[in-house]
Amino acid sequence: MKSTKFELEIFADMKNIKSLAPNGGVNNDDMGYFFKMRCENCGDMTGEQCAYLKEMVKYKGKIFNLKLKCKFCSREGFVRLIPGSGTAFTALHAERKVWAPLMVFECHGLVPEEYNFNGGWMIETDEKPPRFVEANFVSGNFVGSAEDFGSCIPSVTKIEGRFVQMKDK
Ligand SMILES: [Zn+2]
Repeated sequence: MKSTKFELEIFADMKNIKSLAPNGGVNNDDMGYFFKMRCENCGDMTGEQCAYLKEMVKYKGKIFNLKLKCKFCSREGFVRLIPGSGTAFTALHAERKVWAPLMVFECHGLVPEEYNFNGGWMIETDEKPPRFVEANFVSGNFVGSAEDFGSCIPSVTKIEGRFVQMKDK
């Protein structure tokens, strides 16, 4: 079964924030990754899917995190998440306009597209000492309240994710 690896990378504009990462860290097996996929066989786009590291599907002796049957051509596709190379997105990434790697998706018969920020995230403010605050990016933005943060309101705007095909090694 042929596979292609894609790296999910993220970028955002941030203010008064040191870093952001999935709640529980970049390798948290409880983090849900929401995205759509294109069938490699017929090109049909799936609806939104969700993959979790903790959710395991066995197929022909291998373990995957998501199995999907194309609604159009009935071809089965598989996705395996490969943790270990992700990092938090930091103020330095934002300043230098560098995307941060989050997770690697090994895909069989499917091409991931349209990552959707969902699931739980955590921001670390750049106050001293820093505060860790749960954040939700479903709307694409997060802005702390003046009541909680005074004049140093943390904000995340224009958060984006993209899948980049990795070169075969
Ligand atoms: Zn198909």
